[in-house]
Amino acid sequence: MSVPSAFRSVVRKARKTHKCCECCEVINIGDQYQYSSGIWDGEPDDYKQCLNCGEIFEAVTRDGGEPCFTQLRDYLFDSDMDHPDQLLAFSKKMGVDADAVVRLMDLEVPS
Ligand SMILES: [Zn+2]
Repeated sequence: MSVPSAFRSVVRKARKTHKCCECCEVINIGDQYQYSSGIWDGEPDDYKQCLNCGEIFEAVTRDGGEPCFTQLRDYLFDSDMDHPDQLLAFSKKMGVDADAVVRLMDLEVPS
């Protein structure tokens, strides 16, 4: 996926149910979600993320990462984020909740 032209990303309130394109969680009516739209290779497209995933996506992008929509989870796995030390360091550095990353990646949390 190349760099989009005319990209914009806003938080919206769901008027109908959606599915998060990263973690596949249902976004219920009335929930806020991250709505991103743009034009990739001349094709308009849009993506809906739950706020959890939207925040992580934003944090990764801010850090200079280039995750693709719908592939945030793969991106994190490729970054060794399934390793607990890496995950903790990441969440601290990015200012995102470690639990949120664990949820997205669907990891077993050691008790
Ligand atoms: Zn999500």
